[in-house]
Amino acid sequence: MPEYYEIPELPGRKFFRCEPLRASITIEECGRRWHSGNMRVGPPANGDDAHVSASPDASMRCLTCKGCAVGARHAGVQSANLSYLKGATVCGRCHQGCTRLIGKHLCVSCYNRQREYLLGKNAKGTKPVKLAPLHRRTITYVAAGRVLTKTLEHSVDMDELIVTVLRDEQHAVKFMPTLPANFLALRALEGA
Ligand SMILES: [Zn+2]
Repeated sequence: MPEYYEIPELPGRKFFRCEPLRASITIEECGRRWHSGNMRVGPPANGDDAHVSASPDASMRCLTCKGCAVGARHAGVQSANLSYLKGATVCGRCHQGCTRLIGKHLCVSCYNRQREYLLGKNAKGTKPVKLAPLHRRTITYVAAGRVLTKTLEHSVDMDELIVTVLRDEQHAVKFMPTLPANFLALRALEGA
């Protein structure tokens, strides 16, 4: 916890020394910056799935604050997802930042390669060779005290699911090993 103080000229306002910003700021300013860094707006009017920060300038300034635990507390947000991936326009598959996401998940390049893969041929009519096989995968995690699962119909590896959850989940995330269903059934029998 930072140490708070007031200055005589501004009574009633609690300041603290913010090390990441190397500045003295108020609790309110800190919380505002955190919100600004974590701000996400709805899809643009053209109906595309891309999500972008309201103001690129503001979000650049607040990148430092986005993953800050002190900031989250000052913003009054409990157990926030403090990953730098949260809300980022980053492709779940290749993990590259991009200007827009197709289906809220893939960059244009990965989307096109997936489409070719699913069609079984690329534009030249030959079999696509670049893309690793796509499989249905599920990851289990805990967020805000609940056990949740995320399933992707098409994914190249588990990293894709981890990046997806860290990018899209609002709350702090703890990943759980995914246990086979028959193991869980055995556990249930043992407990009986
Ligand atoms: Zn990609």
